[in-house]
Amino acid sequence: MARIMALDSGTTSVRALIFDENGKTLGMHQEEIHQIYPHTGWVEEDPVEIWDKQILAAAKVLEKLNMTAADVDCIGITNQRETLIAWDKRSGEPVHNAIVWQCRRTEEYCGQLVGRGLTDWFQKKTGLILDAYFSATKAGWILKNVEGARRLALEGNLLFGTIDTWLIWKATNGASYVTDYSNACRTMLFNIHTLDWDPEILEFFDIPRNCLPEVLESGAEFGSLDAAYLGAPIPILAVLGDQQSALFGQRCFQKSEAKCTYGTGAFILSNIGKEPVLSKEGLLTTVAWGYKGEVYYAFEGSIFMAGAVIQWLRDNLGILANAAESEAMATAVESSEGVYFLSSFQGLGAPWWKNGVRASIHGMSRKTNANHIVRAALESVGFRVKDVVGAMEREMGMPCKTLRVDGGMTANQFMMQCQADILQIPVIKGDNPEVTAMGAAFMAGLMKRIWKDTQELKAMADHERYFHPVMHAQDSAKLYEGWLDLIHNI
Ligand code: ADP
Repeated sequence: MARIMALDSGTTSVRALIFDENGKTLGMHQEEIHQIYPHTGWVEEDPVEIWDKQILAAAKVLEKLNMTAADVDCIGITNQRETLIAWDKRSGEPVHNAIVWQCRRTEEYCGQLVGRGLTDWFQKKTGLILDAYFSATKAGWILKNVEGARRLALEGNLLFGTIDTWLIWKATNGASYVTDYSNACRTMLFNIHTLDWDPEILEFFDIPRNCLPEVLESGAEFGSLDAAYLGAPIPILAVLGDQQSALFGQRCFQKSEAKCTYGTGAFILSNIGKEPVLSKEGLLTTVAWGYKGEVYYAFEGSIFMAGAVIQWLRDNLGILANAAESEAMATAVESSEGVYFLSSFQGLGAPWWKNGVRASIHGMSRKTNANHIVRAALESVGFRVKDVVGAMEREMGMPCKTLRVDGGMTANQFMMQCQADILQIPVIKGDNPEVTAMGAAFMAGLMKRIWKDTQELKAMADHERYFHPVMHAQDSAKLYEGWLDLIHNI
């Protein structure tokens, strides 16, 4: 009987979950995290609150399950990526609030770097597209704007860390100052080829190397949760950034296996194997994980509007009362009858990068009714996912085998069937919605030898629902061609 604790430190909430040796979730506790908005476009969080609530969630889940820390074999951590914390090594006091990944405070500066033609330089080293999301310019901002930060850094007393690093530093009372590849590679300071902090980038941003943690594989000995917190020590054996953890939790262990999380937006990652291929179509190349001396890479692409399209139809047009109704409406008609819903409310991202484009509805006739529009809106999410998966396939040089799915929108069976029809590959939905936490739990369990290898994890997967394509390939191609025509003509 194994018990693995996953700490899932998300943007708006932190959670603690307990899994057993079958990958079953036994219990969960969640605490909300306050968002701080000091200026328009700026987003911060309180690092002390993040740690306090994370350890509280861990205590509460044990209490709910009538367990003690001594019953827990190991901990795996998964976390919001890119968010940056800086603290004083001596006191452990943060020198500033956490600067959250969404925060746009360095947008203008990033624009200047793009203007200086540095995009390729950064992409070649880090796999990322120069943007304010990533931690590097947030660290630069702290050094420049927080009083005393530069001095602390020069004295060797300033520590930077992503959320995982902060949590582990707190959990071990400062004994471990570490991160893993999947988090490090989101800082835009990490070279994904050498798997180390990049000296030239550190020099560029004037960040001393001793302000950065040691980078370990995603499955490693990260330290031990001090017994003072939960009553017994627990080894921390895994760390994975949230999207990579979901890829691992979805068991996309092999090249060409992809996953999509359909929430407000949609996050698509495909395992591209052991070579870090760089994208020409604006996809990110990211380390998926490092385990037992092997490093897997992934392409990452996201679409801004997925479930948010349905929210817009509900809140702004009022043509449905709730999200679930979208399924009944879409299936009330045979097809969208030539209607295409271009859901580019926030511009069109990868692989089109048409930022100024507005949303629109095309191809309506007198016969068009609300059902056609809802159906076309759901199809638009399917087309956008195909746009991104298509780019991944071109750059990977092979087709994606399957798409594994999770997130709120996967409750819509029409949407999932439609996705399989548009992609012409099986769409697979597991029965455990906690795939992000599961990834970290799987990795920790592998380290603890609760499972022998990833094969054993694969074999454990049951209760999966397969959506096989039923639409004829030619009809699917024709439908998608209509979408492409629209994109090319806007
Ligand atoms: P997030 O984590 O981004 O908040 P969730 O994974 O909770 O997102 O999913 C919520 C989103 O899924 C909402 O945008 C909602 O409109 C959409 N959604 C939920 N249920 C359905 C459904 N049955 N059909 C279509 N969309 C749905």
